[in-house]
Amino acid sequence: MLQRLGRWLRAAGYDTVIETQGRRDYELLKQALAEQRYLITRDRELNEYRRAPGTVILLECERLDDCVAELGRHLDINWLHQPFVRCMVCNTPLTDSRPQNLDALPERLKASLDTAFYCPACQKVYWEGSHVNRMRRQLEAWRDGCFNN
Ligand SMILES: [Zn+2]
Repeated sequence: MLQRLGRWLRAAGYDTVIETQGRRDYELLKQALAEQRYLITRDRELNEYRRAPGTVILLECERLDDCVAELGRHLDINWLHQPFVRCMVCNTPLTDSRPQNLDALPERLKASLDTAFYCPACQKVYWEGSHVNRMRRQLEAWRDGCFNN
């Protein structure tokens, strides 16, 4: 669930590292401190957190909306900070320069290339459409304090 929360933080424009390799707690904490990040976890065993007050944020939520609400009690998150400037998959800032190989794009995308953004790292394409609109509405709901989805 925190990985989903992390992807939504990226959607809101926050520079967010998502741990996927099962690294040890102290390695995560070391990175958080070195890169001046918050370390958001549900791991009560992360016992180094006492040595890094203000860095580790311990959440107890189960559902995404509850995580959003709970995180908001720790940090002043602006869910419309800079929507859709980062790749939700890999955190890389998006660009509007077109990818080299347009042939690889699905037909339905070729029609909306002018409004599309691309991830230069993982090649994911984002374009203004129903999916982005739905996500934008979700971000707006969280900004407005609605956490009941
Ligand atoms: Zn990417």
